[in-house]
Amino acid sequence: MKVINKPEELQKIIEELKKEGKNVGFVPTMGALHLGHVSLIKKSVLQNDITVVSVYVNPIQFGPNEDYEKYPRPIEKDIKVCQDNKVDFLFLPTNETLYNKNFSTYIYNNNVSKIMCGITRPTHFQGVCTIVAKLFNIVMPQRAYFGLKDYQQYIIIKQMVEDLNFNIEIVGCPIVREESGIAMSSRNTYLSKEEKVQATGIYKSLCLAKQLFCEGKEIEDIKQVVEENSLKIPNSKIDYIEIRNSKNLQEVTDLDKNIVIAVAVKVGNVRLIDNMVCEK
Ligand code: AMP
Repeated sequence: MKVINKPEELQKIIEELKKEGKNVGFVPTMGALHLGHVSLIKKSVLQNDITVVSVYVNPIQFGPNEDYEKYPRPIEKDIKVCQDNKVDFLFLPTNETLYNKNFSTYIYNNNVSKIMCGITRPTHFQGVCTIVAKLFNIVMPQRAYFGLKDYQQYIIIKQMVEDLNFNIEIVGCPIVREESGIAMSSRNTYLSKEEKVQATGIYKSLCLAKQLFCEGKEIEDIKQVVEENSLKIPNSKIDYIEIRNSKNLQEVTDLDKNIVIAVAVKVGNVRLIDNMVCEK
């Protein structure tokens, strides 16, 4: 595995590999790699000749009072995870190489970025779209892998690729959970032992919601049950509970057959997101 810091260096290597007819798969991450990330890497290694992983904590997707500074950065461990999983190139750019002092071009989704996480994190998806577009231009992959854990991000990236004519297949990968049911996340390291147990209530209420949906219960009733259950999680505060169309995250009616139940809940000081897709 080769570790690369400079965008131009990676671009050159990829250009050469493409001339040789190689397929490139790309897994963008913020590091602190866990088995959720590994599932994306494994899929890319399986489906492509070359796999590029990026580890970069992107400052412009964090709000002013968020955890940019304290976000975990166990880089030696991440390098080992990539090596162990047959990654070909690990891209570790710096803020200086990606955002020079004249940087002034951003990508903004004018629809789905305004709901759900976009309400409490109004500049988040602009930061995500901008960095992902930059990384796509550097890595030039045929396929890019995104976890359904960040469901809204997945939908927004798919839309960006369509709107801006990126010739890249976006591959959505299922949520990897801990045995307790909580979705794996780099931010789980912020949770105390007790909070980790409390957080399992999120998964439990999503499972219950799925069951109610399959039984034909009305959307509003399902939402209420999820809310009642989530309110029972000690030491927690609901940011949102949304039931939306799983293809485009628009509002649903009781006739919709494909929905996603998405929640954001603060357990202690840690904001967790999770979701479950249900299809009839
Ligand atoms: P992050 O490092 O949190 O920005 O995540 C990088 C990629 O890994 C994103 O596409 C995430 O959706 C994906 N990811 C993070 N956690 C999980 C998980 N538990 N299961 C599947 N994919 C995940």
